[in-house]
Amino acid sequence: MPRITARFDTLAAAKGWDGDARSGAAGARAVPESMDIETLFGQHTFGLAEMRARLPKQVYKALCRTMDHGEPLDPSMADVVALAMKEWALEKGASHYTHWFQPLTGSTAEKHDSFITPNAGGGAVAEFNGKELIQGEPDASSFPSGGLRATFEARGYTAWDPTSPAFVVETNAGCYLSIPTAFASWTGEALDTKIPLLRSMSALDGQASRALKLFGVDSRVTATCGPEQEFFLIDQEFFYRRPDLMTTGRTLLGAKPPRGQELEDHYFGSIPDRVLAFMMEVERTLYRLGVPVKTRHNEVAPGQFEMAPIYENANLAADHQQLMMITLRKVARNYGMACLLHEKPFAGVNGSGKHLNWSLGTDSANLLEPGDTPHDNMQFLFFCTAVLRAVERHQDLLRASVAHAGNDHRLGANEAPPAIISVFLGDQLTDVLEQIERAGTATESKQGGLLGLGSPVLPNLPQHAGDRNRTSPFAFTGNKFEFRAPGSSQSVSFAATVLNTIMAESLDEMTTALEAELAGGASFEDALSGLIAAEVRRVKRIVFNGDGYSQDWQDEAERRGLLNLRTTLDALETLPGEKNRALFEKYGVLTHRELESRHEVALDQYFKTVNIEGETTADMAGTMVLPAAVRYLNDLVAAADRTRTLGVETRGLTRTVQIVNELVDELRDALDALVAQNAELGGEDVHSKAYHVRDNVIPAMAQVRSAADRLEKVVPDDYWPLPTYRDMLFVK
Ligand code: ADP
Ligand code: MG
Repeated sequence: MPRITARFDTLAAAKGWDGDARSGAAGARAVPESMDIETLFGQHTFGLAEMRARLPKQVYKALCRTMDHGEPLDPSMADVVALAMKEWALEKGASHYTHWFQPLTGSTAEKHDSFITPNAGGGAVAEFNGKELIQGEPDASSFPSGGLRATFEARGYTAWDPTSPAFVVETNAGCYLSIPTAFASWTGEALDTKIPLLRSMSALDGQASRALKLFGVDSRVTATCGPEQEFFLIDQEFFYRRPDLMTTGRTLLGAKPPRGQELEDHYFGSIPDRVLAFMMEVERTLYRLGVPVKTRHNEVAPGQFEMAPIYENANLAADHQQLMMITLRKVARNYGMACLLHEKPFAGVNGSGKHLNWSLGTDSANLLEPGDTPHDNMQFLFFCTAVLRAVERHQDLLRASVAHAGNDHRLGANEAPPAIISVFLGDQLTDVLEQIERAGTATESKQGGLLGLGSPVLPNLPQHAGDRNRTSPFAFTGNKFEFRAPGSSQSVSFAATVLNTIMAESLDEMTTALEAELAGGASFEDALSGLIAAEVRRVKRIVFNGDGYSQDWQDEAERRGLLNLRTTLDALETLPGEKNRALFEKYGVLTHRELESRHEVALDQYFKTVNIEGETTADMAGTMVLPAAVRYLNDLVAAADRTRTLGVETRGLTRTVQIVNELVDELRDALDALVAQNAELGGEDVHSKAYHVRDNVIPAMAQVRSAADRLEKVVPDDYWPLPTYRDMLFVK
C-alpha cells in the first residue's frame, strides 16, 4: 500500500492544466487578449503623454527638465501635479495611493493610503495633494538600517522621485496608484537603494561631461542599464509541498535526477505552451507599466527561462527590474506555477543570474560604441580605458556589490562567472590595446569580414571581429559591458551604483591628468594617446579573454595578483575598507556611515538567510525524510521477520535492511550535528554570527543533505514525502 500519495496527486494536478489561466486577471478566455503594443505600452503609467495632456505647460516643461536634465523641481508645482495624477488614477479605477520604495532588503515596500477624505455632509471625496505626493512618512523601524537608526528613532521619510513615472497597479479586486520614491532616515541618510543610485548617476554625469568637453562635446551623460532576468518555473503544487522552496527559495534536499541538462535540448528550445502563455501575460502587464520587455527564451537548465528588457537610464531600469520580478512572481500563479528567482533553486543544475548590461551615453550617442575602426576612435578608447581602469582598481567593490548568500552557489561554482573579476574585450579590442601597449598608438583594427555558409540560397553574413565569451564576469559585448555576476534575485541598484561611481572616479582622474598635460603645453592628441597608453600598460592584467571556468585561470589570476573573493563574507570584508570609503565619500554617493550601514545589513542578511536554511534543513530531515526512511525500514524488518518464521533465505532483504539502516544512522548523526550548530548562535555580533553560519552551519547542512539524497535513491517512491527534481524540472 502506498503510504504517501501526495506526489501522485500533484502530478495529476500539473497534468490537469488546461491551456488557460486558472484564475486571476486573465481569467478563462477563448480568444487571446490583444497584444497591440502601441495601445498597451505605458497605459498604466503617468508618463509624458498624460502629463502633457493634463498639466499646465510650464509645469509640464519643468517636469521634463527634471526628468531629462536632472534639474530640481520647484515644490510649488507639486500640488498641480498631484491633482492631475489623482484625476488620472481615479479614471483608472484607483482608490488608494502608495509611496513605493526600495529598502535594503533588496526588494520593494509599499504602504497604501486611501484618497478618502470625509466631508461635512457625512459623505467622502477623493483627495490627494502636493505634500502627500512629495513626502511620506512610513515607520522606518522595521526596515534594515544597519545601525543608522536607533530603535527609538522610528521616523523615516519617503521622497517622490519625479524621474520615474508613477503607475497604477491593477489587481482582480481593485487598483492603486504607486509612486516611486526614495527612502531616508529622519536625519537624511539613505536607507534604500535608489538614493545612492541617483547620486552615482549624477557623479558620473558630472565627470563624464567634464571629460567630453575636452573632446569638444557638450552634453550631459546618462548611465544606461539593461538587466536580463533568468528564472525557473515549476508547478505550484510542487512549490507548496516543499517547505524549503516556500521558506528559502531553494531546494535544501533533493537528489540529482538521472536526466538533468545533459541533452542540451532545452536552451532556446520551443517554449512550452503554458510558459509561453505566462510570458505573454507578463509582457502585457509590463507593457502597461511602461517596461520595455523585449526578449524571451528557454535557458540552459530544464525549467529555466529568461526575459530581458530594452535598456533605459539606470534609475528607471532599476525600478523596472523590480517591477519585472514582482510581475513574474504574480503572474506565475495565474498559470498554476511558481516562479523561482533564487540563484540556485536546484543543486547540480545551472543557476540563475541577472546580466547587467551597462553603458553610458550622451543625449545622442553611446560612449562605448567603438565604430568600425576603434583604433582611431580616441574618444571611445578613452572611455573604454576608463572602464578597464575602474574595474582593475575596484575588483573588490564589484565583487562585493553582488555578494549575498544565494550568489555563493553560482560564483566560482563552475557555471556562472568565477568569483575573480576580469574583463573580456574580444579579439578586435584586445588587438588594438596590444598595439597601444607596444607602440603607444594603434594603427589598425581587425575586421570581421563576411561569412559564407556554402549554399547559394543563404545570405553571406557580416561576421563580428570577435567571438562572444560566456564565462567572463564582465564582458564587452559590442557597445556596452555586460556584468554577469549579479544574482537573479538581487536588486541591480547597488551593482549599477558601484559601476557608475568607479567610472566617475576613473574619468575624473584621467581628465585631471589630461588637463595637467594640456596646461603644460602638450597637444590634445599627444596628451591623450600618452595617457591611454600609460593606463593600458598599468591595468592590462584585468583583461582576460580565455575560459573563466578553468583551473588554469584560477592559477593565472593568482599570478596576476587579481582578487579571488570566493564567498559573500570574503567580499563583504572589503566593502568598508579605506579605499572604498574615500571613493564613495568623494563622489557624494555614500557617507562613511551609510557605507558601514550597508555592510552591517549585508552581513545580517547573510546570517539570517543561512540560519533559516539551517533550521529548515533540520526540520525537513527530522520530520519528513527520517520518518519516511524509518517507515520503510520498519516494513523491511517486518518482512524479514515474517520470512524468517517461514524459514525463507532473505539475503537481498537483509542487505537492503542494512543499507537503509546505515543511511538512517548517518542521517541521524548529521541531523544531530546540524541541530547543535543551529542552536549555537556564533557570538554576540552580526559579524561572528555570519562567520559561524558560513563555517559551521553550511558544512553541517551539506552532511544532512548527503545522507538524505542517498536515502531518496533507496526509499520507495511512494514513501518519499517530497516532490523530486524529476517532478519539478520536467513537468511543464
Ligand atoms: P546579448 O544577447 O549579447 O546579451 P541582447 O541584444 O540580448 O544582447 O542585449 C542584452 C541587453 O543589453 C538588452 O537589455 C539591451 O537593451 C541591453 N543594451 C543594449 N545596449 C545597451 C546600452 N547602450 N546600455 C545598456 N544596456 C544596453
Ligand atoms: Mg545577454
